[in-house]
Amino acid sequence: MKELNGDSLRIAVQNSGRLTGPSLELLHGIGLDFEDQDRKLFSRCRNFDLELLFIRDDDIPEYVQDGVADLGIVGQNVVREEEAEVEELQELGFGQCSLKLAVPEGASARSTEDLAGSRIATTHPTSLRRHLEERGVEAEVITIRGAAEVTPVLDVADAVCDLVSTGTTMRMHDLQPIETLWDSQAALVANPDSLEVPDRRELIDRLRVRLRGLLDAKQMKYVTLNAPRSALSEIEEILPGMKSPTVVPLAEEDMVALHAAVKEEVFWDVMERIKEAGGSEILVLPVEKVMR
Ligand code: ATP
Ligand code: ZN
Repeated sequence: MKELNGDSLRIAVQNSGRLTGPSLELLHGIGLDFEDQDRKLFSRCRNFDLELLFIRDDDIPEYVQDGVADLGIVGQNVVREEEAEVEELQELGFGQCSLKLAVPEGASARSTEDLAGSRIATTHPTSLRRHLEERGVEAEVITIRGAAEVTPVLDVADAVCDLVSTGTTMRMHDLQPIETLWDSQAALVANPDSLEVPDRRELIDRLRVRLRGLLDAKQMKYVTLNAPRSALSEIEEILPGMKSPTVVPLAEEDMVALHAAVKEEVFWDVMERIKEAGGSEILVLPVEKVMR
């Protein structure tokens, strides 16, 4: 077993970049109280036995693998690219992007196979090499640090393999995606040895339960409405996520109030159908946290 860091649990977070804001928001969201980064390396949590370590996102998988940190919040793309031996505990629902191959507008290539013999500039050389190998395609892989999208204009490369989220950057540079290698989002990852140490495991599990509660709550709505008792079963069918609602009799005879947590978006059309079925005073409220 590798040497683990001191006594506190330690979580690595990107020091400045796209994942920093959402990562800290998530940690605040599960009730952790700590000083924000402010160019420090460490930040101690005031109400949980946890220390935050702020580093470049590219270093997070390796630091977690080596036990410098027990946990990390990092893009799945970086874990794959670094081929790190860490355990993914949970997808976190932000930092969505895809690794795509793209060629300049007007180029004839339509698939990986069409790129045989070309030069491809990429920020993810390991992933690209693996993909080319799987397809049996030989091409020159040019590793760059960032801004792959400018390499065709500079005649450094014929194609690019880079992360895309909305696709705006690629369109701005007249690049056309031809293949997606994989999709990615931010995830909570752990050092496998940390999960074997009982008191660490216990702290990690507590954090995981809180995280699940926060992520579940985001998808959940609390619905209350009034309806004739006779309309109940029809309304339950319209809201299939609604399991065993609380039904309270109202002063008005045969009318009931119905309260339930619903595990999906309740859109206007759903509310309209409930109203048609006899529902009234329909309220849809956000849910902040859930503990099962
Ligand atoms: P660092 O200096 O920490 O290495 P970086 O430039 O590698 O910073 P960012 O651009 O902040 O990092 O991206 C961090 C992560 O955000 C990526 O690894 C990826 O998981 C995710 N991400 C989401 N959308 C995109 C995108 N369009 N381009 C790049 N990364 C994205
Ligand atoms: Zn990076």
